[in-house]
Amino acid sequence: MHQYTLIFMENERLLMLPGPVPVPERVRQAMMRQAINHRGPEFGTAYAESAAVLKECFGTKNEVYIISGSGTAGMEAAVANFGRGKRIASLVNGKFGERLRDLGRRYGDVTAIESTWGTPLDLDALAAALEGGVEMVTMVHNETSAGILNPAKDVGKLVRKHDALFVMDGVTSVGGDEVLADEWSVDIAIVGSQKCLAAPAGLAAVAVSDRAWERIAEDRPYYLDLAAYRKNGKKTPMETPYTPAVPLFLALAEAMAIIREEGMAARIARHRRMSASVRAAVSAWGLSMFPQLDAAHAYSNTVTAVVMPEGVTDSALRGTVKRMGIEIAGGQDHLKGKIFRIGSMGAVSAPEILATLAAVQHALKK
Ligand code: PLP
Repeated sequence: MHQYTLIFMENERLLMLPGPVPVPERVRQAMMRQAINHRGPEFGTAYAESAAVLKECFGTKNEVYIISGSGTAGMEAAVANFGRGKRIASLVNGKFGERLRDLGRRYGDVTAIESTWGTPLDLDALAAALEGGVEMVTMVHNETSAGILNPAKDVGKLVRKHDALFVMDGVTSVGGDEVLADEWSVDIAIVGSQKCLAAPAGLAAVAVSDRAWERIAEDRPYYLDLAAYRKNGKKTPMETPYTPAVPLFLALAEAMAIIREEGMAARIARHRRMSASVRAAVSAWGLSMFPQLDAAHAYSNTVTAVVMPEGVTDSALRGTVKRMGIEIAGGQDHLKGKIFRIGSMGAVSAPEILATLAAVQHALKK
């Protein structure tokens, strides 16, 4: 059985954020070494091994490529490689849905299907947009800004029925919660290294379906050209088109070895236990979840958003928790000061969750 060691070290802050998350010692050590040639077997093996584990995290048999750049680079690659002027439907119920919408507007003709942050997506409006000839649909699986898990399977079914491409941001679900990209008909899925994968920030990975490759455009971006990633990825040893962030690739390979040792089923179960514990504490404190969802809709299993109680300010709450060595997140944009968020992603386990809940409880009672 996989043994967890407490990653909350003396003189370090415990980051219980929805990314970046604490990086296990083994993964940190993997970065601290002499430079290696990125066009050699050692790099190629690290890349190939990471891609193989990432396939399990994505729930796909499709090709997976790793990009030097944060999650947003993966989002841009997903939207930008399929031609300018495409008709895109963007599902939005939080900050990252908005980001995909805005990215879509740089490259295509977007129909935004917007719901208030944290409220369920409007699938009837999506069906109507698809009837109207939309060619690509974008959706965030785990909407980090609002703590809601969106129904990827239902969206995928609708999108496939109308033969459009399905772009799914799995930045804060892949590697932590269940993601079944193939079963859900996802054509391009994206993850970021600093979230559930428990690696340092700075890499994105994309899983690309055969249907997506068939529709790849001639007028592709240069640095984020997926066809170039594919061409170099098929070399032996595996390569990237340009010089990659080698230390981050080496760290990611170690983070992926940890995921392989734990096994995805156990990792998903752990993330679900951790987030359920946070939700149980919220209920025991008499606080309200943000949003309030009925049984037909799902809370995130990697980040919990909580309504800020009357009489408590964001700076007092998070400041007190921070003085105890732990960082939790506030709300973003218009939710600043109105909610707080506790991340439970990556390698964290019961000790970190207990320490966090104790600190938050103390801060709430102050
Ligand atoms: N998508 C989601 C759901 C996220 O939570 C984030 C980051 O918080 C991003 C995309 C953007 O990732 P990055 O900040 O790595 O570019």
